[in-house]
Parts: sequence; C-alpha cells; structure tokens
Amino acid sequence: MQMTSLSLHFCAVGVANCTSSRLDILLVFARGFPAVGKMMCKSVKALFLLILLCGSLATACAVRAARVVADRTAKLPHAVLVVHGGAGVEKGLTVRQQEEYRQVLSAALLRGYAVFKRSGSSLAMVEAAVRYLEDSPLFNAGRGAVLTRDGKIELDAAIMDGRGRAAGAVAGVTVVKNPISLAMAVMRRSPHVMLIGEGANQFGREQGVEIVDQKYFWTQTRQNELDKMLEQEKLNKQSNRSGFAAHKYGTVGAVALDGSGNLAAGTSTGGLTGKRWGRVGDSAIIGSGTYADNKSCAVSCTGQGEWFIRFTAAADVAARYRWQKVPLRDAADTVIHKVLGSGHGEGGLIALDRHGVFAMPFNTAGMFRGYICADGKPHTFVYDK
Ligand code: ASP
Repeated sequence: MQMTSLSLHFCAVGVANCTSSRLDILLVFARGFPAVGKMMCKSVKALFLLILLCGSLATACAVRAARVVADRTAKLPHAVLVVHGGAGVEKGLTVRQQEEYRQVLSAALLRGYAVFKRSGSSLAMVEAAVRYLEDSPLFNAGRGAVLTRDGKIELDAAIMDGRGRAAGAVAGVTVVKNPISLAMAVMRRSPHVMLIGEGANQFGREQGVEIVDQKYFWTQTRQNELDKMLEQEKLNKQSNRSGFAAHKYGTVGAVALDGSGNLAAGTSTGGLTGKRWGRVGDSAIIGSGTYADNKSCAVSCTGQGEWFIRFTAAADVAARYRWQKVPLRDAADTVIHKVLGSGHGEGGLIALDRHGVFAMPFNTAGMFRGYICADGKPHTFVYDK
C-alpha cells in the first residue's frame, strides 16, 4: 500500500469590521437643529420634528440593512470549503485526464463559495458543492454512480451540521437526483436521522426533491466496470467476494467552515461496483464516513466503506483531535495510515477545523481533492502536490 498524503493546509482567517455608525448621522442633524428651530413657528417645528423622526428611522433601517450585508462580507474571509471526489484514483492518469477532473472540482468549489456569499452558511456550501459533483458523470455519486450487481443504482448520502449534531442520511435511494439534498431534507424536515430504500424515495417525493428515472444515473463507463468485474469474478471463481480490492473509490464529499465558525460535512456515493443485498457503505453512516461537530472538526471519507465503518473513521479523527489535543493533521494521518492501514482499509478523507486548518490524507495512489478559501481561488489536486 502506498503511503501518500498531502496533509495540512491552513486558510488564513481575519475579520474586517465594516459596520458604519448611525450616531454620526444623527449628530449632524442634531447640530443643525437649534439654529433652524429659532427661525420657525411651533407647527413648523412639529412638522420638522416629524420629518426628522422619519428621516432618522429611515436612516436607521438603511444602516441596519447595510450592516447585515457588511457583517456577512466581514465574515467572508473565514469561509473555507474543501472537497473530494474519491480516493480511488488510478495510477498514471494523463495531465489531460487529471485536468478534466480538476475542472469539475474547481467548478464545485466555486459553486459552493458563490452559495456561501449569498447564504453565509457552511451547510449550504456543502450541499451546493456536493450537488455539483453529484451532477457530474465523472464521479461515483448521483449521475455516473457505480452499478449494483444486477445493474441498478442505489445511492447513499449524509450531511451533518456542526452546530448541534443535527444530521440527515439516506441509503439505497434509487430515484432521487441529488441524494445530498434528500439527506438535508431528512435532517431539517423529519424527526429522523436516516431513511432507507423505498421509504427514503417516498420521503423525497413528498418533500418535492427532484425525482428522475434510473436511466438518468447510468453511464457506459460504469456498465463497462461492472461487466469487467463480473467477468473477473467468473475467472477467479470468487462470486461472493465482489472484487473490492480492485475498486475505484469515486465518492464525493465536502467539509466547510463559515463566518460564524460553524462546520458542516456532507458525503454522497453510489457505493461499490457490484454491491448487493442492500449493502450500505460508510458515506451514509454518521461517524463513519461523515461527521461534523463545532467542538472538533468536520470530516468526509472515501474508500472501502466496510473498513471506515468498522473503525468509525470520521468520528475517530474528531475524537483524537478533540481529546488527545493533537494537530488535525496528526489525527487524520493516524486514522488513514495507521488505524485503517492496520486493517488494510484503503481510502482517504478530508477534515477541517474551526480555525480553517484542514487535512486531506489518503493511502491510495491519489485522491481527487481541492479547497477554496479567502482569496476565492480554487486549488485542486489528484496525486501528491
Ligand atoms: N466509501 C464508499 C462506500 O464504501 C465508496 C467510495 O468512497 O467510493 O460506499
């Protein structure tokens, strides 16, 4: 197993205080008022007072509106968004092939950042970036997801809000275009954390999320991968073991920090090629593939889900960081290289803390990944830096 990682990054944070002073404006009026008063009769004075009052109220409203915008702007430097597109990168992708993936990652980062500018929310940023990646056929999530053993598509996703452990997850959904948004709906509009299968589809219909035909998700590339895997199985006579070792992990995920110091994490996947029996991976399991807590960090994982579940990988990173008080890089590296490595678990993760520090370790040949912070420029990677 190749031990590679691009582990620690830091997005500088700083707060510009951009609020203006309503008091200055009132003082200008107050200074002028006595001189005017002497020249006017009582009724004119009353009228003037009324105008002054209305003017002050209007000014106060305008200043308040400006302050809301200014506050949001002031918080922008804090925003950090990190994404991944799976740790199953094959060795030897050409620069052109890499560029194709990197362009989509960049666009997802820019989409997330644009949504943040409008909403100021880490959750919205995560949802927007993951949705963008779900819509791309390049990654194993939403359109372009891998096929189950009988050629179907079953999608898993989860989202978590670092503010108070609110979380939503869906597994085995078959007709929802953007499972991350369904997970968001579960979190916000149901009393539950996780919905599966037809029940999750049904909830999606009731919530008005976009429903599509299974054909929408299908791509020839994924069909070829399944055919190859089944062929390989016949040759190896390992029909019950479904070729996990040769799997290309293409799950997508995002972690984000907003100007209020709130963390969020989201992950979405088609799972593993040739999966069956209603298999669910780590992505949809809170604490295994997805986790966010403002007191520690936000984490999204990719790789051989069974190992991430066995080791509750995402929660382990958070616990090490919080309780052992080790740097985020060490916590993330330990889980990927030592904990998972000890069980031959392949994959990677992205993790972000509330200071804007993030880590992106992986123990595979590469991991599609990137980040965007204060300068608003996306940075993307496939192999080592
Ligand atoms: N972790 C995902 C799963 O096991 C697969 C992936 O990352 O591609 O379902």
